[in-house]
Amino acid sequence: MSKDLKDKTPEELEQLVTELGQKKYFAGYIFSFIHVENATEISLITPLSKAFRQKLIDQGYYISALTIARKLEDKDGTAKYLFTLEDGNQVETVLLPESKRRTVCISTQVGCNLDCQFCATAKIGFRRNLTAGEIADQVETIEADSGKVTNVVYMGMGEPLLNYDAVMKSVKLLNHVEGKNIGIRHITISTCGIAPAIKKLAQEKIHPRLAVSLNAPSDELRTRLMPINKKYPLAGLLKAIQDYQDDTRQRVTFEYVMIKGLNDSAENAKTLVKLVSGIKCHVNLIEYNPHPGCDFAGSGSESIKKFAEVLEYAGIETTMRFKMGRGIKAACGQLGADMAKE
Ligand code: SF4
Repeated sequence: MSKDLKDKTPEELEQLVTELGQKKYFAGYIFSFIHVENATEISLITPLSKAFRQKLIDQGYYISALTIARKLEDKDGTAKYLFTLEDGNQVETVLLPESKRRTVCISTQVGCNLDCQFCATAKIGFRRNLTAGEIADQVETIEADSGKVTNVVYMGMGEPLLNYDAVMKSVKLLNHVEGKNIGIRHITISTCGIAPAIKKLAQEKIHPRLAVSLNAPSDELRTRLMPINKKYPLAGLLKAIQDYQDDTRQRVTFEYVMIKGLNDSAENAKTLVKLVSGIKCHVNLIEYNPHPGCDFAGSGSESIKKFAEVLEYAGIETTMRFKMGRGIKAACGQLGADMAKE
């Protein structure tokens, strides 16, 4: 059992304090000092008696903290943070300010082993899963550094649903009323399509929004771009998404990275329409963002608009995202590009 108090839910903290002979409500002080006041030392939780604080320290309990190793800001307002974890590993996290909304795109693993061909993180390989405390801390540290965060997307480094327990626990930490209290509808988990985990997610008591990184309308093309498709091909994946929607009544987002000459033809768009018919969805078209070691090119705004027209004509709500954060390699698919180089 981890001794990191940042990694514990209020219920786990209640269990801990009662086991140590203290009143249950002391857990609330610990939780809000860590997740609202950003306390990084047990000695700072002053509502607890000095003796109890010392007892926690003596028993090896601590509060983990991320360190900002680098912060880059793009002229479009995007900021990319490089965080150092307590063991020296590093992850990148992005703040995307858009009018009233301030979204943080967080990482769930150090590196990733899914090898999606358009993604720089894949080049790092997989190092380890993040803990729930480390995942939530990315939001908390950015909020302390640059102001209120309104939305969270699990779309940074790593595949969230391959670190399922820590990810769901971090959602609970961020959503908790005594913590950051980020509304569950303001939290999105994006997956490359781990079908069994989508089924599991449907059974949870709370349902963050679900986004699925689709990127191709056929198994052949999708397997080329995303080897995980071999394990979870489109038919089973779409069935899991449909079941998720039936269980949760939630609209699902499909992310589609637009790569020139590969997945961006009118024919691809028509096949995509057929593929997702029956699913209440929204499609987000993202122009491929270049990074070293990958030969793809972005589709360009004209092709993306034409692709979007086919979807919209079929009644599918579609948005287009261009180049946000590209100047600092903070755009989709670019996280870890500098780390892979290093
Ligand atoms: S897109 Fe996501 S799942 Fe795919 S390699 Fe990159 S980080 Fe991993």
